[in-house]
Amino acid sequence: MLTVSNYHYIREDFTSQYPSIFGLTPESFKRQLIELQKIGKFISPKELLENTDEIVNSKQNYLLVTFDDGLREQFEIAKPILDDLKIEAMYFVNSINFIEKQVSLVHKIHLIRSQVSPEDLMSNFLKSTFKSKFELPEIDKKKAIEHYNFDDVSSAHLKYCLNFKLTINELSIAMNDLFNVYFDSKETVNNLYMTEEYLKILAQENQLGSHTHSHLALGLLDVDTIGTELKKTKEYLEKITQTKIEMLSYPYGNEASYAFPVPDIAKKVGYKLGFTMERGKNNGCEDKLLLKRFDCNDLVTGKNYKNSL
Ligand SMILES: [Zn+2]
Repeated sequence: MLTVSNYHYIREDFTSQYPSIFGLTPESFKRQLIELQKIGKFISPKELLENTDEIVNSKQNYLLVTFDDGLREQFEIAKPILDDLKIEAMYFVNSINFIEKQVSLVHKIHLIRSQVSPEDLMSNFLKSTFKSKFELPEIDKKKAIEHYNFDDVSSAHLKYCLNFKLTINELSIAMNDLFNVYFDSKETVNNLYMTEEYLKILAQENQLGSHTHSHLALGLLDVDTIGTELKKTKEYLEKITQTKIEMLSYPYGNEASYAFPVPDIAKKVGYKLGFTMERGKNNGCEDKLLLKRFDCNDLVTGKNYKNSL
């Protein structure tokens, strides 16, 4: 069987004015790897690609580390820790950060929310062209609080508007405008994402994969756009690294991100393995384009860890 642990941000300091970026410190990352080592055997992405059936059908608990989003800190902070422990991992990157030198919408949202309070964001949007989407009737306010029951009331209202009231295009326009007020796009791209040099090193070590071009939920897109999102990254990475890119992780990883016909298109485009964020171990029953992963918080030492896993 195969247990996959997925990571995003790995940094020393998560303090910000308004907490919106979450992840592991290098110490907690290392601690988790050492604990995982006690309950399974880490394999490299190459071993998995070459012996997928054998690995998922085996009684032995094989482990794989993956990273989504192509963040610079994954290469600069997490990789040296993994190298020390002789563990290889898979790094899934979005090509929009390299080809178009743009910050992914998901990161714009994280960054804006780290600098601006939910109240200020709300009043800002209430003055924008999307004003009507942010004027929540009482019934929606109630739904928002029920849905986001871990958040304070202002955050719950805001998240509900952003995620359930705006279309993806509206969200993108609203966030772009605001992002440019607070951040320099070029500087953010340089600070937040890996360099092409890093991509080449990872590819030489068979540790590079695709997280699609622009970090959209693929299952919500039309067939042509799904194809473009999957192809663009593969072609770009193959061209600059002169290697084959055959592994993919679906942005967000929930059902909306891999619904039919997404895995079929991924296969046609040439991907051999695809990773979702559906929680669970892989034991041979699953489609190879729909492998399960855990968020690192779900596994041993993680904040949502339950001993039953
Ligand atoms: Zn992602």
